[in-house]
Amino acid sequence: MVDAKKVRENIARMTNKVSSVTSGRVQPHKHCRICFTPIKLSAEPRVCKNQECIDKNERDERNQKQMRIWMFIFFGIFAFGFVGPILFRLL
Ligand SMILES: [Zn+2]
Repeated sequence: MVDAKKVRENIARMTNKVSSVTSGRVQPHKHCRICFTPIKLSAEPRVCKNQECIDKNERDERNQKQMRIWMFIFFGIFAFGFVGPILFRLL
């Protein structure tokens, strides 16, 4: 026989745990995005004081920016290839 009261208690405990994790009350700190060392909440950019992490983060950010530009260019070409013929047909 399943004890309904116990089941309800278990569910309540589980949802409690989940909500405390999602609300971030458990960990009032950030982690270095390179080596995941706990760092101050106010740390910006989100890396520790390790020079290696600072350099790597900078490189990553530059790569990301470049990637975004390329994505934009490709999207522009794609959009033009798609919309262009329709526009030309309308003109
Ligand atoms: Zn680090």
